[in-house]
Amino acid sequence: MANLLEVSDLRKVYEGPDGGVEALQGVTFSVSRGDFVAVRGPSGCGKSTLLHILGAMERPTGGSVRFDGQELRSLHSDGLARLRRRQIGFVFQEFNLFPTLTVLENVMLPLTLDGAAEQQARRRAARLLEEVGLADRSKHFPAQLSGGEMQRVAVARAVAAQPGLLLADEPTGNLDSENGRRVMQLLSGLNRSLQLTVLLATHSDEAASHAARWLLLRDGRLVAQGENPQSEKSP
Ligand code: ADP
Repeated sequence: MANLLEVSDLRKVYEGPDGGVEALQGVTFSVSRGDFVAVRGPSGCGKSTLLHILGAMERPTGGSVRFDGQELRSLHSDGLARLRRRQIGFVFQEFNLFPTLTVLENVMLPLTLDGAAEQQARRRAARLLEEVGLADRSKHFPAQLSGGEMQRVAVARAVAAQPGLLLADEPTGNLDSENGRRVMQLLSGLNRSLQLTVLLATHSDEAASHAARWLLLRDGRLVAQGENPQSEKSP
């Protein structure tokens, strides 16, 4: 299987008043298309930094990231923005839905921003909301939903533009265990049905157990990796 991501000797230093913080200290790994990978490790080990760089939201200090064969360093800001819009979906711990847009409009947004016709975007968003079990909430505003429902809307929005890669940063961090499990089952379902490549940052054992394999970071270094014995959990 061709690699979707090739990460080599990735480094990130944040400059601060007390000197630099080495958030990533030479991380190397690859992710094949359709893979489901959990990035694990304690708070502060560099998981978010890694996801932000892979999501073309931050530039590394050193090393390289190849996305579908393309070296991210060679892309200018408009190329990176296009990659983010078309190829990468992001799910955050805090959901990050737009409070003044309805659920349907939130899911439509990545499509209309990318120039899709209103009607087409509406149809696709409605279908996705059905898939995540929230068709009856489409006219609600985010504040009228539970945390678990908000996160399922955020997942629908993240996959609306049919990205090749879904990055999920602690997607269950603000959810109780039942809702967390539901969101993870949704992500594994999308991974299987769409062959969507998923990279999940989490310190939750339960969330990580849904992935096919895991990488363990400590102090900005990849210290171990392995496969989960039981990678498929039925919804
Ligand atoms: P994790 O997601 O595993 O909790 P992070 O990637 O958020 O870890 O952070 C890794 C290290 O980088 C931590 O020491 C953190 O304090 C530092 N860090 C993260 N973002 C910034 C930033 N924007 N400026 C300065 N330091 C940062």
